[in-house]
Amino acid sequence: MLTCKISPCTIVGASFAGLACAMRLAEAGIEVEIIERKSEPGEKLHTTGILVRDVTDRIAWLGELPEGLTRRIEGVRLYAPSLRSVDLSAPNYYFLATDTPQVLRWMAQRCERLGAKIHYGATFGGAEPCGDGFTLPQFGHCSFLVGADGPLSQIARSLGLGQNREFIFGIEHEYEGLAIDGADRLHCFIDRRLAPGYIGWVVAGVGIVQVGLARRLRGTASEAKAAMSAFLEKIAPLFDVRDTTPIHIRAGLIPCGGLVSPLARPRALLVGDAAGMVSPLTAGGIHTALEHGHAAGQAIADFLHGTAPDPSEKFIASYPHFRMKRTLRWLYDHFQNDLAFDLLIGTPPVRAAARIVFFQRKRRTFS
Ligand SMILES: Cc1cc2nc3c(=O)[nH]c(=O)nc-3n(C[C@H](O)[C@H](O)[C@H](O)COP(=O)(O)OP(=O)(O)OC[C@H]3O[C@@H](n4cnc5c(N)ncnc54)[C@H](O)[C@@H]3O)c2cc1C
Repeated sequence: MLTCKISPCTIVGASFAGLACAMRLAEAGIEVEIIERKSEPGEKLHTTGILVRDVTDRIAWLGELPEGLTRRIEGVRLYAPSLRSVDLSAPNYYFLATDTPQVLRWMAQRCERLGAKIHYGATFGGAEPCGDGFTLPQFGHCSFLVGADGPLSQIARSLGLGQNREFIFGIEHEYEGLAIDGADRLHCFIDRRLAPGYIGWVVAGVGIVQVGLARRLRGTASEAKAAMSAFLEKIAPLFDVRDTTPIHIRAGLIPCGGLVSPLARPRALLVGDAAGMVSPLTAGGIHTALEHGHAAGQAIADFLHGTAPDPSEKFIASYPHFRMKRTLRWLYDHFQNDLAFDLLIGTPPVRAAARIVFFQRKRRTFS
């Protein structure tokens, strides 16, 4: 049990969104506490951890990441269901594979050096509005509460905020000691039967090879496992990992229905996956979690310093609505067609569409 105290800002969740938010708050001189149920930030992650280039341009501290925690991926190799492929890249564009547990540990240490207090092994169980803020039974009172607790946010439930309802389900194997051809590429596989609504992938990460599959259907665990086995069989002519035991297997939900509503109330705000701040089309949520967390941290700091209104009023008006991406998601969900991809994979229209999905510069999400 933690001692009861008054904290200006409490954040639930010490992952990308929560730590980015805490860093900005701490830099702005706000005392911040983070409640995290894991015993350390790199434990049991559910992400491939690929960063798009744009975020490294926008979040200055990412430039300080120690060498060896990231690896450049220069482009995409896109495979049709028949395994015919096309290489795609764009000038000055790349992805960063990350040693994700170490990146999160580094972010958490940076937060702590700035003065944030992280309570590991602590689970948020509920909050009650109380005066100018909230009381968290085990943790005391806070003037502002941030829900950075992922796709199935407990904060959202507890405060009566909106919840994610549409998901992609991802499963990934991580292999050690393997070398693959095309290690400078993100290998993406289209297959409506195995990965309806999304893709399968192979990527040489930092010191490991990651092989994953994400599906619009949640299904049972054994269905996902069977789809993954079928995917490993399918890609064996190119990447044969069938006789290698993965060092980790991870799975998780990715929200793909756009922003939840409402995502804020006076003195409380959801950020990252909890807010549905994930591209509904690419399902990339790390860059948006980092940018959203950072911008929310600034808006909350301004409010607590008395120089701006509560972020639940004005700040959230600047949020993206992902209208175009939600439309494209709907089209892909309903009209994904293996035969069409087999026939059209190398053609200019498919190349052009794929370039938009993979390399279109992400617009600055927050002004
Ligand atoms: C298989 C898979 C692969 C993916 N690959 C990529 C990728 O390559 N690139 C990309 O951009 N996106 C990817 N994503 C999406 C990306 O991982 C998420 O969008 C991102 O992690 C969101 O960060 P977040 O901080 O909002 O939430 P999360 O990373 O989900 O963090 C939530 C945190 O809150 C904590 N928490 C939850 N509930 C409580 C509670 N009650 N009390 C205390 N703590 C709590 C959790 O322990 C966790 O640390 C992937 C997702 C999956 C499932």
